Amino acid sequence: MPIPLFDLKAQHKTIEAELKIAFDRVLQSGQYILGPEVEAFESEVASHLNVNHAIGVSSGTDALLLALMASGIGPGDEVLCPAFTFFATTGCISRVGATPVFVDACPVCFNLDVADAARKVTERTRAIIPVHLFGQSAEMDGILTLAKKHDLLVIEDAAQSFGASYRDKSVGTMGHWGVYSFFPTKNLSGLGDSGMLVTQDAELADKARLFRVHGSRKRYFHESVGGNFRLDPLQAAFLRVKLKYFGTYIQKRRQNAAYYTEQLSSFPNISTGDEKNCFCLERDNPEDTSKERHIILPIAYSHNFHTWNQYTLRVIGNQQRDRLKNFLAEKNIGSEIYYPLTLNQQACFVDLSPHQKMLPYAEQLAKTCLSIPIYPELQQTDLDNVIAVIKTFLS
Ligand SMILES: *Cc1c(COP(=O)(O)O)cnc(C)c1O
Repeated sequence: MPIPLFDLKAQHKTIEAELKIAFDRVLQSGQYILGPEVEAFESEVASHLNVNHAIGVSSGTDALLLALMASGIGPGDEVLCPAFTFFATTGCISRVGATPVFVDACPVCFNLDVADAARKVTERTRAIIPVHLFGQSAEMDGILTLAKKHDLLVIEDAAQSFGASYRDKSVGTMGHWGVYSFFPTKNLSGLGDSGMLVTQDAELADKARLFRVHGSRKRYFHESVGGNFRLDPLQAAFLRVKLKYFGTYIQKRRQNAAYYTEQLSSFPNISTGDEKNCFCLERDNPEDTSKERHIILPIAYSHNFHTWNQYTLRVIGNQQRDRLKNFLAEKNIGSEIYYPLTLNQQACFVDLSPHQKMLPYAEQLAKTCLSIPIYPELQQTDLDNVIAVIKTFLS
C-alpha cells in the first residue's frame, strides 16, 4: 500500500456525515458571505487559543497581507523575516511595498535565529515576522525582547502551528498579530482555502475587520483602502466540525513523531538534534555536516508544545537528501522538500542588496531537509514501513 505524505480523504471519511450536515446548514441558511457561521467559528477559535479577537479571512496569505496593511507598513519600511519559510511570509511584505530583510535559520529548530535578526535591525525596521515552522514555536522571549527594544511590530506567522504553544501560551497570541492558515495540508484544514487573523488588541481587531471588507463600515462608504479578505461561511462550517476533532489529530501526530524518534534514534548514523546547538537559545558551533550519510532527527524543546505539522529530517552528505527522497518514492512512500530554495535564492528576489545573500544556515537546511509522512491517519504498519525503508537506505 502506498503511503502518501498526507491523506485528507481518510480524515474526511470518518466525519463525512457531519461535514454534509454542515454543508446543508449553510445551503439552507441563504447566508453565503460572513454572518453567524463565520462568527461562531471566530469565537470558537478565540476560546481555543485563549485570544481576545479572531477575524476569519480568506487564506493565511491574506491574513499576513491584512495584518501588514492594517498596520500601515509600506514603502520605505523594512520587515525582518526568516529566509527559510514558505514564500507567502515574504511575498506579503513585498506586496505592500516594504522591503523584506532575510534572517538566517537555526539549524536545530528550523526557526529564525534571533541573534541574526538583532544584527539586521536598522532605523527603517518596522516589524518582524517570526514563523513557527513545522509546528514548533520560534524563540518568542528573545523575539519579543528584541521587538520591544526597537519598537517593532510582531506578526507571528503561525500558519503551520495552530494549537502549538510556547511556555503555555498559544503561538500567534504573543505578538501584535497572529496568522493562521487552514490550507488543506495544515493541521486544522478546510476543504479549500481559508485562514484566521488574531490579536489581543481591540483597536487592531477593529482595523482588521475594516480592512477585510474594502475599508468600509457602511456599505459603499470607504474610509480606508482595504480588500476582500473574507472567510466563506461554508469553510467556517466545515472547520467548526474539524475543530472538535483537532485534539485527537494533534495527539496522533505527537504519538507518530515520538514513535519515529524512538525507533530511529538508536540506529547507527542517526542522531537527534542537539538542543545545545540551537542558535535561538545560545549560539554555538553548528553541527558537523561533513559526515557522509547521516540523518539528524527533529526535536521538540521542552518549553514548546510541538504540533508536528511536519516531521523533518536533515539528511547530511552529498546528494543524500535527494537520494533518500527517490528511495522512498521507489517504495511508494511520499516525502517533500520544505523548502528546496531559501527566499533570498528565489528568482523574484535577485535584485536584493548583496548583504541579503549571506544566509549559510538557511541555505544548508534547504539542501538537507526532507519531511516524511506524519499525518494522524497513518497506521502502525505504515510507520513501521517508513522506518524500515529509512534503515535500509542507511545500511
Ligand atoms: C501555508 C503557509 C502560509 C500561507 O497560507 P495559505 O492559507 O496557503 O495562504 C503562510 N506562511 C506559512 C509559513 C505557511 O506554511
